[in-house]
Amino acid sequence: MEDIHSKAIKKLDDFINHDLPQYSRDRNYDFGITRRNNVSMLSKYISHRIINEYSVVKRSLDRYKFNKIEKYIQEVFWRIYWKGWLEHRPKLWNDYLSYSVKNVDNEVLEKAYSGTTNIECFNDWVDELKSTNYLHNHTRMWFASIWIFTLDLPWQLGANFFMKHLYDGDAASNTLSWRWVAGLQTIGKHYVATSSNISKFTNGKYRPNNLNEDAEPMESSMTYDTNELDFINLNSGNKNLIIFENNLDVEFITKIKDNYENIYFALLSNDKRVLKLSENVMTYKNLLVEDISKKFTGSSIMVDDELISLLTSNSSFDVIYPFVGENLSFINNHSVSDHLNFIYLDDDIHCLQFCKKVSLILKKIYRRLLKI
Ligand SMILES: Cc1cc2nc3c(=O)[nH]c(=O)nc-3n(C[C@H](O)[C@H](O)[C@H](O)COP(=O)(O)OP(=O)(O)OC[C@H]3O[C@@H](n4cnc5c(N)ncnc54)[C@H](O)[C@@H]3O)c2cc1C
Repeated sequence: MEDIHSKAIKKLDDFINHDLPQYSRDRNYDFGITRRNNVSMLSKYISHRIINEYSVVKRSLDRYKFNKIEKYIQEVFWRIYWKGWLEHRPKLWNDYLSYSVKNVDNEVLEKAYSGTTNIECFNDWVDELKSTNYLHNHTRMWFASIWIFTLDLPWQLGANFFMKHLYDGDAASNTLSWRWVAGLQTIGKHYVATSSNISKFTNGKYRPNNLNEDAEPMESSMTYDTNELDFINLNSGNKNLIIFENNLDVEFITKIKDNYENIYFALLSNDKRVLKLSENVMTYKNLLVEDISKKFTGSSIMVDDELISLLTSNSSFDVIYPFVGENLSFINNHSVSDHLNFIYLDDDIHCLQFCKKVSLILKKIYRRLLKI
């Protein structure tokens, strides 16, 4: 049976060869579950770094000139940008996790969760999200906008709902995209889903007549200081390596594996997660970890308490940096930091430092990386 890394590479290469040239023209259309060749559907791999963002871009550029595929590169770099942005403001992640529900209409919330509102397209997207664990990017924007501005529900609960069901659920992309839709990310600029836009980009499938199209952006008094990043690769001499499930970078692990005597793959169950994941998503993560660990002979998989024992033991570890998110919070809560040394991809060290301000920087980041 084909392993997951090969499968991901094949999917990427097929997309590059057949569909990438049309991406910028067609990418905004959601033609439905059975017709998804206008987008790559690679996010469930990229978000776990089965293939990393830089490899996706470099492989695409091996085939096409930059100006033919700039839009695609820009989209892939959104992930880098969001990741870097959150790295500079880790407090935002903690605030999001500790959000406590107040003044929520529970009846509306239950209808949203179960896909039984009076908005047909929204209900269908809830079903699609739960059954396929994926939604098209434009649909995620409409979904979040309807959740916040028409159903009047807190963005945090919508973001949790996505994290629970998306195979590609990602702390930075998800949290910051929800905030962007709400108008909290780019202050005063929000995303309002309109009936005509939904109709156009679903090819006329939906034309809802009950959306709040006059909503004002959300406001918040919270501001976040920008930390400088201290990403640096030290030669620790450690003989133990820990790899979390959201950074299963096969190319990187292959490059460094001979430096280690023990390689541990780490997976948190729902007991140790603040944001609980659906059964499908947990099964998917299990599958990924099992599959990738098989590539590295002698490696083992550590779960929950085993992992805590390891982290709190006297041994010293290198850990492939898992970025601000559930896994890093877990490490911070359980490890003895003297024994722990994070290691980073050189491209991350190089790119994430620029991801501080508005998205104009985006161009700067990829132009620097690609030297164009
Ligand atoms: C409210 C909301 C929540 C989101 N939550 C997540 C999430 O949890 N995890 C996640 O990976 N993406 C998230 N996204 C971004 C985006 O919707 C998905 O990455 C994309 O739809 C994945 O499908 P694809 O692989 O077919 O994308 P393609 O259009 O083929 O894009 C190629 C790759 O570029 C990256 N990408 C594309 N668009 C974006 C974007 N807007 N932001 C960040 N990366 C992007 C993804 O890695 C994607 O695989 C969210 C967007 C919104 C509006």
